[in-house]
Amino acid sequence: MSSFKPITYGDLFKYLEKYCNFHKRDSDGETTWTCDGTLKATKQLCDDHFLFFPSVEQDLQDRGGYCDCEVLFNVVGHIDKKRTVPRGHQ
Ligand SMILES: [Zn+2]
Repeated sequence: MSSFKPITYGDLFKYLEKYCNFHKRDSDGETTWTCDGTLKATKQLCDDHFLFFPSVEQDLQDRGGYCDCEVLFNVVGHIDKKRTVPRGHQ
């Protein structure tokens, strides 16, 4: 992906779905996923595309997204997927 292509919240949600990787565990059929309780993957996407993480973090936390999986649980549907993620000032 080019750094100059605008990144939307829809792109962020897709990225987080890949990162969190919701799936049923073979051993007991429980749903499991990857999340370390932070917005680590969100920050990674921001760093990769020169997006302004503090502003993104604020948008997500205002809607109950305090970690990568909570963004998918709480924020999807409350932010327009076509909205562009703000860029940084590097
Ligand atoms: Zn989480």
